[in-house]
Amino acid sequence: MEFKNTREFAQLLDSKDTLQSYKQEFIFPQFNNKNVLYFTGNSLGLQPKRTRGFLDEILNDWGNLAVEGHFYADKPWWDYHQRLAAPLAKVVGAQTSEITVMNTLTVNLHLLMVSFYQPTKKRYKIICEEKAFPSDQYMFLSQLRNHGLTPQDALIVLKKRPGENHWRTSDILEKIELHRDELALVLIGGVNYYNGQVFDIKTITKAAKQTGAMVGWDLAHAAGNIPLELHNWEVDFAAWCSYKYMNSGPGNASGVFINQKYHNRKDIARFEGWWGTKKETRFQMKPEFEPMENADAWQISNPAVMTMAPYLASLEMFEEVGMQALNAKSKTLTGYLEFILDDINSENKNQKTLEIITPKDRGCQLSLFVHGKGRELFDYLMNNGVIVDWREPNVIRLAPVPFYNSFEDLYEFGQILKAGI
Ligand SMILES: *Cc1c(COP(=O)(O)O)cnc(C)c1O
Repeated sequence: MEFKNTREFAQLLDSKDTLQSYKQEFIFPQFNNKNVLYFTGNSLGLQPKRTRGFLDEILNDWGNLAVEGHFYADKPWWDYHQRLAAPLAKVVGAQTSEITVMNTLTVNLHLLMVSFYQPTKKRYKIICEEKAFPSDQYMFLSQLRNHGLTPQDALIVLKKRPGENHWRTSDILEKIELHRDELALVLIGGVNYYNGQVFDIKTITKAAKQTGAMVGWDLAHAAGNIPLELHNWEVDFAAWCSYKYMNSGPGNASGVFINQKYHNRKDIARFEGWWGTKKETRFQMKPEFEPMENADAWQISNPAVMTMAPYLASLEMFEEVGMQALNAKSKTLTGYLEFILDDINSENKNQKTLEIITPKDRGCQLSLFVHGKGRELFDYLMNNGVIVDWREPNVIRLAPVPFYNSFEDLYEFGQILKAGI
């Protein structure tokens, strides 16, 4: 598409946008009595207006029914989490039985490593990406320590080539091949939080599976952002948080994918609790653990229903719109942002101020170096009603989110940015 950096053109794109009405479904912080320009949905998604109703329902049921709410609420609490599985399966390309929702992301990755990282004398190495999200790094180090291993021996860190800002799939495949006999687990962030790169999940998973290793993905920045086919790609396990592109609120419950080939297996290592036992006999309080026949076998505690309700509200919207429509808009939206940034660059010919470091394999996030500019640019943007994310020394991360960002938002952002650099 031929883009133009004008308000009229942005408005034209908005008028053709079939998701345009969804902007009104979200609550925006206000700046000078106007919505802020919000580009940090990769960090915390905005609050859908319908969230409050879902939460009120729980509060009302708790008030009116108290303990009886477990079984007699309109949406009973004891299996509330199961309502999320079907819509979430569509978002990540899974069978409903492969999805459960519980705990929070890092906690779930730890629990999944209990099942899928069982190092032996021969196979004990983990492949991850360099500068993985800090929580993931702490997880790897503490898991290795727990097994009496050291990162020097057991952690293979995928590096970018000097002078490059992204990982090459061919380099990753080479590393997998190099360590094929000792490889126990490949666990990478599906979309890198820093540069916005989308890894080739299908190809990497296939290559790693051929070595006999387990493959998991941290989909914090991928769920609700890019098309996923976890089941068809034969991913072993994955987890994601729900407060980024999934708009379910700060620190909220995490989604988990466990490939169905690991369901109903007696030999699987797992940390267990009463909510992983068969629904039908759970309250007989028997001493034996009889696992649920799906991913719910990994549930430990009774579900934090207060965190499930906003997630269900958000999933209702994903269900209405579908990932296909979101992705289609996302591509055009991010393409338009790229065009606007290039246009601003072309106006000062001698020096490129803005350098996009996100490769073409991307979701909706663009990360950029702002050469010659420091923190004052971030402060300027924030003081002008633009919410972006800043990483020292000079990286801005921008995520136009198809659910609630418009093309005109991007035009306006461009005008403000241009005046500030
Ligand atoms: C956001 C994010 C997390 C956050 O983990 P929590 O346990 O939810 O705090 C973890 N990993 C990645 C890659 C993230 O982007």
